[in-house]
Amino acid sequence: ANILLGPIQKINAVIESYPKGIAGFKRYCEILDTDPDIADSPQAKEVELHGAIRYNNVTFGYEGLEKVLNNISLSIRPGETVAFVGPSGAGKTTLCSLLPRFYEMDAGSIEIDGVDIKDIALESLRSQIGIVQQDVFLFSGTIRENITYGNLQATDNEIMEAARRAQLDEFVRTQPQGLDTVIGERGVKLSGGQKQRLAIARMFLKNPPILILDEATSALDTETEVAIQKSLAELSKGRTTLVIAHRLATIKNADRIMVVTKQGIAEQGKHEDLIEAEGIYSRLHYAQFG
Ligand code: ADP
Ligand code: MG
Repeated sequence: ANILLGPIQKINAVIESYPKGIAGFKRYCEILDTDPDIADSPQAKEVELHGAIRYNNVTFGYEGLEKVLNNISLSIRPGETVAFVGPSGAGKTTLCSLLPRFYEMDAGSIEIDGVDIKDIALESLRSQIGIVQQDVFLFSGTIRENITYGNLQATDNEIMEAARRAQLDEFVRTQPQGLDTVIGERGVKLSGGQKQRLAIARMFLKNPPILILDEATSALDTETEVAIQKSLAELSKGRTTLVIAHRLATIKNADRIMVVTKQGIAEQGKHEDLIEAEGIYSRLHYAQFG
């Protein structure tokens, strides 16, 4: 827990990738502190990633519990947007959590650009994977600090450009203190949509080749979700993107959709192909849209 007291640079890599809320963040610190499996191997190196992802027979279960993922294999091309859909608890979040090495798999391997992720220095790996999820982690600093923690060298111009692309610039400009406005306990209250935009602005600034969007807009009302989907579509351009979505409308345009069930990847293909196949996806689709 002393990691919280360290310089913000030290926290970066940690906060950036905490799995679920502060509980997940704490758990992640514990993992960092105690799990010797998740540490740099002697041959770990910095690698500049392009984002070709390959899971080879990946099997994983949380400690002492039954396996969540059994022998999963999949591959994703650089720049491709792949959506994971399927019942709650099927393992979609778990599947994506293995990529930044939040957990160590029990068997199998994951490669990025042909390099086993265990051979990539953790900081190098995690600094090149951006995660946007439902709960945005905010600390009670300024808007600037909240946008930049992934990139402390950023200039105001770069920050405002990221805010613009996330459609947050208008909001920043209308605050009396602009980027220096304090958010959090004593500061302005951000709406759910503004928090997501802040998270998206962070990612534009961080500019990672790989992006994980885990139910990023699930908590928003439909109108706000539609508006934010535009920013997310822009954000995912040119990056390998793994999207987990509950509302199927948001992933219709994915390059590929994979249906995750407890049995594994049950179906994959484009929206139209999966509708035509009249399998699980098509049933999920008609259940949501009638
Ligand atoms: P999905 O994202 O598809 O809803 P998850 O990957 O979150 O599914 O969960 C898959 C299974 O793993 C579920 O049974 C869930 O309860 C379990 N699980 C998820 N996270 C943890 C954890 N940190 N510890 C133990 N079990 C977990
Ligand atoms: Mg999930």
